[in-house]
Amino acid sequence: MYDLFVIGAGPGGYSAAILGAKKGLRVAIGESRHIGGTCTNWGCIPTKTYVESVNLYQSMLNARRFGIDAQKPTLELQALVKRKDRITGRLVKGIEHLLNTNNVDIYRGNVQIIDHNKLKIGDEIIRAGTIIIASGAKPIIPEMFRIPGILTSKDIFEMTQVPPSLIIIGGGVIGMEMAHIFSALGSKVSVVELMDRILSMEDQDVSAAIMKLYRRVNFITSARITALEGDDPFKLTATTGTSEVCLEAESVLLCIGMTPYIPKGLEDSGIILNKAKGIQVDETMQTSIPGIYAIGDVTGEHMLAYVAIKEAEVAVDHITGGKKCINYNSLPSIIFTSPEIASVGKNPQELTPDKHRTGTFPLAALGRARTMEANDGFAKIVCTSSGKIERISIVAPHATELIAWAALAIDQDLCVDEFLRPHYPHPTLSEMVKEAADDLYGMSIHKP
Ligand SMILES: Cc1cc2nc3c(=O)[nH]c(=O)nc-3n(C[C@H](O)[C@H](O)[C@H](O)COP(=O)(O)OP(=O)(O)OC[C@H]3O[C@@H](n4cnc5c(N)ncnc54)[C@H](O)[C@@H]3O)c2cc1C
Repeated sequence: MYDLFVIGAGPGGYSAAILGAKKGLRVAIGESRHIGGTCTNWGCIPTKTYVESVNLYQSMLNARRFGIDAQKPTLELQALVKRKDRITGRLVKGIEHLLNTNNVDIYRGNVQIIDHNKLKIGDEIIRAGTIIIASGAKPIIPEMFRIPGILTSKDIFEMTQVPPSLIIIGGGVIGMEMAHIFSALGSKVSVVELMDRILSMEDQDVSAAIMKLYRRVNFITSARITALEGDDPFKLTATTGTSEVCLEAESVLLCIGMTPYIPKGLEDSGIILNKAKGIQVDETMQTSIPGIYAIGDVTGEHMLAYVAIKEAEVAVDHITGGKKCINYNSLPSIIFTSPEIASVGKNPQELTPDKHRTGTFPLAALGRARTMEANDGFAKIVCTSSGKIERISIVAPHATELIAWAALAIDQDLCVDEFLRPHYPHPTLSEMVKEAADDLYGMSIHKP
């Protein structure tokens, strides 16, 4: 009998198992495929491994600007696949090691829930006082796209040849990171997006800046796909309201989102699902069945590894008698394009010029950016009329790192004065966000 059984060893599941064990619980975890889950094997880590390689490649092509005469570099997808396998392999081993050293028992196989404290793996029945479901999500593939050869974000990492042309369906975070990678690898990339702009959850000026910077990508927005035929080449037809667009490409990649992966046995248990077809949970991550918790992508809400880990902390805390909760209002969004994009705070649609002030600062006006030959980007801060910071957006190299401290400002409901109180070292990219805050009251020194 275990105190806690965790279903799925992605970032949510393995974090919950390790934290549970650290709190003195007798813990087991069941995984049907690979330890590390989507994040380590087909998600965060593989994409960022490719992103780092293509970024270095692009820097090397640009080396002359830094006073370096480099030989013409070459980039091969096969080498990237090898590098990705080496990195994910090491991380998977590291997670296994952590589970072992924390005395978490690992079960390999598909876990089925029999009742609120009974599980089945193969022929084995296991009992547990509490269950955490962390079974993740799988790519959404609507019926019209179920044709042989169409790729999902998972299949793309098996490819060893760069497709001469690639249609990416969906201009969200994953679609844009893939557009960045494959356009740098030399594919002729088209992004087909249903909304009137890519990255529609970001500020309008962020979407506009990225669309302008990725001139080499063919963006088709407000596009409703009416037909897709495959696969030599694929032929896609879409209407954009004003016209019909026909595209042809050797490969098509579907990036229209993920849907929760509900473990077998749960549908019949009476557990309540939410609008996103995920498992409904309360603020402690407990489902409608007492003693069964759900965390991460399976809740269908914020499908991010760092949310899954936070939710693991909350669930384990509640199981062991604590009262932790999550402030989803300070949840940052990060996108590994070039430049990177990061934002935190209220939805841009909720911020209106009559009630809010906006401060901006261009990357090109920053000394540190000049030393990096980085000119494209900006910081933008929106605050209320009383000075409370509501939203921070950053488009710049390392924006994904800079946002952590911006998230703290939102989490702590800081006002502009408080945000400007600390020292901002020079020359750094953090000065761009400071100057955007100064600009809220017209006091930016370096803004042109
Ligand atoms: C291409 C891509 C890029 C991404 N980039 C980022 C990023 O940069 N940053 C970020 O924060 N997030 C990113 N994500 C999202 C991130 O990968 C997920 O949010 C995260 O993996 C969710 O963690 P999880 O533990 O809920 O589920 P998962 O990581 O999906 O793990 C669930 C695990 O449960 C197992 N499982 C399922 N059912 C059962 C069962 N019945 N029995 C046993 N095992 C089972 C699965 O095999 C899987 O290993 C990306 C996703 C994709 C697809």
